[in-house]
This record gives sequence, structure tokens and C-alpha cells, in this order.
Amino acid sequence: MPKKPRKGRHVPQRTCVGCREVHSKRSLVRVVRGPEGIFIDPTGKMAGRGAYLHNRLECWEKGLHGAIAKALKTNLTADDRERLTNFMATLSKETSAQ
Ligand SMILES: [Zn+2]
Repeated sequence: MPKKPRKGRHVPQRTCVGCREVHSKRSLVRVVRGPEGIFIDPTGKMAGRGAYLHNRLECWEKGLHGAIAKALKTNLTADDRERLTNFMATLSKETSAQ
């Protein structure tokens, strides 16, 4: 007799485009594709198509190697790449997903 009480708890879940793990939205960094290009969206409130990544260097490396472009259905411009790389530089390999 399987019973699955799956009600009452609503935590938004998002997939990291780097490692494809699913996590609660809060533990991920949003990038958004707006009219001016791709930006880091620390507030999660910018309008546009968004993608999510962990604050982990390895996820951003994968992201910059095509995962972000694919998720946002665009190509990264040199400016986009520079912004993302600058953000990535603030991350350390030691940083965990939390
Ligand atoms: Zn990840």
C-alpha cells in the first residue's frame, strides 16, 4: 500500500546547467539574458530568460564551455564572457553549493 504525501511543501527547484543537479532556487546563482546581454542576477528578479548555476567553480567552467549559451539559447559575446569570467574569479574551488 504505497502512500505518498506530497502536499504542503512547495520549494522552488532549479537545475544547475553546469552539473545538472537539482537544488532549491536559493542555493543557486541566476544568470539572465536580457537585451544588453547576459548578466549575473543576484536578486533573481531581473526580467529575461534565466539559467541557474551553483556557486561552484566547476559548474561555471562547464557553463562557460557551452552550458549557459545552450540554456539561454544564445551565443556568449566577448562582453558576456568577460562578465561571467569575472564572477567566476570570485569563486573558489573550495566553495560548496551552500
Ligand atoms: Zn552545479
